[in-house]
Amino acid sequence: MFEKILIANRGEIALRILRACRDMGIKTVAVHSTADAEAMHVRLADESVCIGPPSSADSYLNKAAVISAAMVTNADAIHPGYGFLSENADFAEMIEEHGIAFIGPTPEHIRVMGDKVAAKAEAIRSGIPVVPGSDGAVETPEDAVKVGAEIGYPVLIKASAGGGGRGMKVAETADDVVEAFKVASGEAKSVFGNGEVYIEKYLSNPRHIEVQVLADSHGNVVHLGERDCSLQRKHQKVLEECPSPALNSSERAKIGEVVCNAMRSIGYLNAGTVEFLYENGEFYFIEMNTRLQVEHPITEMVTGIDLVREQIRIASGAELDFTQEEISMAGHAIECRVNAEDPVTFTPSPGKVTGYHMPGGLGVRVDSGLFAGASVPPYYDSMIAKLIVHGRNRNECLMRLKRALSEYVVEGVKTTIPLHEKLVNAPDFVDGNYDIRWLEQFVLSGSENNS
Ligand code: ADP
Repeated sequence: MFEKILIANRGEIALRILRACRDMGIKTVAVHSTADAEAMHVRLADESVCIGPPSSADSYLNKAAVISAAMVTNADAIHPGYGFLSENADFAEMIEEHGIAFIGPTPEHIRVMGDKVAAKAEAIRSGIPVVPGSDGAVETPEDAVKVGAEIGYPVLIKASAGGGGRGMKVAETADDVVEAFKVASGEAKSVFGNGEVYIEKYLSNPRHIEVQVLADSHGNVVHLGERDCSLQRKHQKVLEECPSPALNSSERAKIGEVVCNAMRSIGYLNAGTVEFLYENGEFYFIEMNTRLQVEHPITEMVTGIDLVREQIRIASGAELDFTQEEISMAGHAIECRVNAEDPVTFTPSPGKVTGYHMPGGLGVRVDSGLFAGASVPPYYDSMIAKLIVHGRNRNECLMRLKRALSEYVVEGVKTTIPLHEKLVNAPDFVDGNYDIRWLEQFVLSGSENNS
């Protein structure tokens, strides 16, 4: 087992990883930018190294600085968290060349799954159902018109290098497709430095359902059920639940088995999530994330399995110590992403947290580095906390969530807690009756009422 792990991240996820290390008796090294010198992950780590100025490019994304920090502190492994360098195959390769273990999959898998066109081809090869669409990348606007005619409108033009919901454009008709192609590939080029795009059928009312997997280096692959992440704004997840209100246990077992077989066939290693759109009882692969996901705690609450601990064990060469049959899903969990943003306009609200009170009680977990006096710097993602609630069933979970939200106090910066409070009282949400478009409509109608 590793003796010392460097955590190449910040905020709640750095703290989350640090906690798993503590539980396992492993020492921790925090890295931080000058803007995060007083952050909680730095305060609680055994050692810390400043790796640069506030901008992510010069600090958390600076491969050489992170690797040097690991070398000088003698860390034997690096956990990248999510975002930043977590899906950077070159980084995973570089650290292994320096004799440091990467807590994640192999660089090859990161590379293939990071290219959405290659990932889709790999999914098809390994027996995973995909969204109907172009056969690989689409080179010209004329080809886009041909694909549109073949698969039928509306279509979605997506960037091969896409992520975070960016580089996507819908074309409703053949007249739109040329323009949408140009806009999507232009945006992809400027945001991702790669203008390659592909086309998919635009599904009208799907849910977003994703399957969590763990695979060790001894050939064992298990799934830990699914998460429903349909509540999205601008293709970004806002609230997630486990299990999905839309699946029954036989559907769960069936898609879980398809995913496990595929992971076995590609020789996948460590934790991963296979994301699907789900419509009229059918699953359609959209992408695979080769890392820990923001919403992993809801799976932990329902299965009782510490995903970060498993990631660390797998990276150290250990074998999974439970089988698929031994995994049971108990009760229901929901995660609310709390962002430092205006709850109506979603404008970021960085600043100093002047007062802070966290909810607690049975079934309530808060993953956050916040405290009274903490600063929320303007340079990074605006998510400042995750409120995760578990109950014996969905109803108990919802009641606890309402209680927890009403107790949560963050002063000094605006947060999206009021949005969550409205959301948990919306009849459609309470009934589990929503798809990936529902939240945008809900937000729109809410802001009209407020104006
Ligand atoms: P990203 O990597 O940018 O997050 P994804 O491929 O995971 O991109 O898609 C993000 C979200 O965009 C999905 O959760 C879904 O809401 C929407 N989306 C993606 N593909 C389609 C599609 N073919 N039809 C309808 N909506 C889609």
